[in-house]
Amino acid sequence: MKSIYDFTYDQLVEMCLDNGFKKYNANQIFSWLYRKRVTSYEEMTNISKKLRQFLKENYSIGTLEILQLQVSKDSTRKYLFKLSDGSSIEAVLMHYDYGNTICVTSQVGCNMGCTFCASGLLKKQRDLTAGEMVLQVLTVQKEIDELGKRISHIVVMGTGEPFDNYDSVMSFLNTVNHDLGLGIGARHITISTCGLVDGIKRFADEKTKYNLAISLHAPNDEIRNQIMPVNKAYPIAKLMEALKYYTSKNNRRISFEYILLKGVNDTDKCVNQLAELTKHFDVYVNLIPYNNVDESGYVSTDYKSAMIFYDKLMRKNVRCTLRQKMGDDIDAACGQLRSKYERKKINE
Ligand code: SAH
Repeated sequence: MKSIYDFTYDQLVEMCLDNGFKKYNANQIFSWLYRKRVTSYEEMTNISKKLRQFLKENYSIGTLEILQLQVSKDSTRKYLFKLSDGSSIEAVLMHYDYGNTICVTSQVGCNMGCTFCASGLLKKQRDLTAGEMVLQVLTVQKEIDELGKRISHIVVMGTGEPFDNYDSVMSFLNTVNHDLGLGIGARHITISTCGLVDGIKRFADEKTKYNLAISLHAPNDEIRNQIMPVNKAYPIAKLMEALKYYTSKNNRRISFEYILLKGVNDTDKCVNQLAELTKHFDVYVNLIPYNNVDESGYVSTDYKSAMIFYDKLMRKNVRCTLRQKMGDDIDAACGQLRSKYERKKINE
């Protein structure tokens, strides 16, 4: 059964009109789903019985089942959800001074094969629907409603490659961004990609106000080929060309994600090459301490060396931050909780 959360506002208007209902019914439904956050059609008391019945017969409603919730010392909350087909996915909520950020999953598993990442331990089984992404945000929002808190930022940085599930990700963001939906500002929304060039160009043409983050992680093809197989299809020169196209259309700042892997991408040569790559556009580099993944064979650059790397970049006039580690005491690395859970299930 299709989910009511799969509809963007415009699609819901169309559905209402197609079935003999009114445009304002779509406003009512959206408001019940995302403002009042009810989980059954019975609760939509200002809507006719006929429409309620119609919705009930055709579209599923209700939040995701929470299989596990881990809360870390820094109050990062990591959720493991169960989907209607039995698949499990993760979402993480992080508390910052500026607000509450949710990290959303876009696919069940991932096929990009980055060698440092726990998500790729389980290959892609399927794309998520727009509704399943909306429901990650809504389920967590409903939980923190009780604490009087609001999700203010979204990053599409959970398991999966958002540009490999382009249309559903865009529909999802449309709903959570919509004034009648959750109303999360476009500038508070970030899509992170491993560098699918076609997706970047398509995204550039849409001229949305969402932020774009690129998982760069290496400043040359030699290292990037080793740790990110996607680089063989879209080498750095092609990626930079797509980013130039993006900035020519949007004039927006891009961020580069760069996890520091000891002895792999943290050398002086890397500093110089990274500085060179960032010269051509308005870019912000996020240096990220690596969350160790046992199976990967990589370890994080130690904090002191990370600071030195950061300093050297700064001295080359690269805007950057060294991100603090969050949720280190829980399985917060992308895909860690899920891969542990799924493997346990297989072994049982
Ligand atoms: N496929 C997208 C989004 C999902 S990954 C992308 O590649 O951007 C989200 C981010 O987490 C990426 O920057 C990814 O490289 C990073 N990441 C993956 N595993 C990590 C780990 N163990 N520690 C720190 N960051 C990690």
